[in-house]
Amino acid sequence: MTQQTDVVVVGGGQAGLAAGYHLRRQRLDFVILDAEAEPGGSWQHMWNSLHLFSPAEHSSLPGRLMPAQAGETYPGAGHVVDYLTDYEKRYDLPVQHGTRVDAVRRDGDGLLIEADSGTWRARAVVSATGSWSRPFLPAAPGHRTFTGRLLHTVNYRCPADFADQRVVVVGGGNSGAQIAADLALDGQVEVTWVTQRPPRFLPDDIDGRALFDVATGRRRALDAGRADTGGVASLGDIVAVPPVREARRAGLLTAKPMFAQLAATGVGWADGSRSDADAIVWCTGFRPVLAHLAPLNLRGPRGHIPTAGTRALGEPRLHLLGYGDWTGPASATLIGVGRTARDAVREVAGLL
Ligand code: FAD
Repeated sequence: MTQQTDVVVVGGGQAGLAAGYHLRRQRLDFVILDAEAEPGGSWQHMWNSLHLFSPAEHSSLPGRLMPAQAGETYPGAGHVVDYLTDYEKRYDLPVQHGTRVDAVRRDGDGLLIEADSGTWRARAVVSATGSWSRPFLPAAPGHRTFTGRLLHTVNYRCPADFADQRVVVVGGGNSGAQIAADLALDGQVEVTWVTQRPPRFLPDDIDGRALFDVATGRRRALDAGRADTGGVASLGDIVAVPPVREARRAGLLTAKPMFAQLAATGVGWADGSRSDADAIVWCTGFRPVLAHLAPLNLRGPRGHIPTAGTRALGEPRLHLLGYGDWTGPASATLIGVGRTARDAVREVAGLL
């Protein structure tokens, strides 16, 4: 039987919950369908030592400050899961966990949402499925010949999984630097860190707070028709969180340029040098999880769905939340998603 509601939110991570908070305030009827069995979105799958790059009070969703974590300026991923679990309960958000949406289709004046455990008909959809379940691995010459373990950020847990092994970590962003630091500081793993261009560390005093201000300033400038202030990327790529700083200070975080190819037992550079490797961890980013929206036929040339703010240009009843700056400044961060969620829900309410 098809269930009827005003709005279906697809995804119950931080973005879906922020949408839920504002939908409640607008007194709309809605449901949040989330593939995870438990609350916390992708935070429940991140590596053991991961800490936020902003203090708790600067990592909060609308309505409720994230409490500080005892003994930590930058809370760990487990603390974020606890916060999101509490948030879901506190606002009594109607999250249906363990429900994966397969397709969203047009259906007369509404949208039909087909999930593995039922079908909904809604007047609007907010898609907030993040990118964790779509890791990106670039094609590298020889990758089929490598006989060791090939992993992505999503598969990495802790250094103990690589004790006494040689590990190549690929990627000059935050995940690459943090995983390389995590492995190197452990002392039991021989780490080679490779990056496409020399790593660009942000100054030590810049954390997520400053990045949020920069992203917001840039959006305001662009919206007001002023010159592009050059967003976060103009400052650098890597936030110098404490373990990264410690590993760098100890001389453990020196990057090599990108290798030219993989061989059976390691990687080789164009100058003929090579490193043996038991495992390669690709910290090469993610792509937005949008397969459930394929029936709407909205994809633009870069694989993204073109939007005005969060509203899909080709389907005004669909909003996209949290995937990256293309859906709002700092929309893929804890602190940033609240504002875009508020704006998206206002538009949805206006439409309904
Ligand atoms: P997710 O947390 O991925 O939630 C999406 C939810 O949708 C998941 O529960 C998923 O199971 C579900 N879903 C997916 N597809 C479907 C479907 N078809 N049907 C139903 N449900 C579905 N941000 C910060 O603010 N501070 C940080 O310090 C920070 N550090 C980060 C470190 C790493 C390594 C990464 C990867 C990101 C970090 N971020 C940080 C960015 C961002 O806050 C997180 O990526 C965050 O998890 C994004 O939230 P989300 O709700 O958009 O997506």
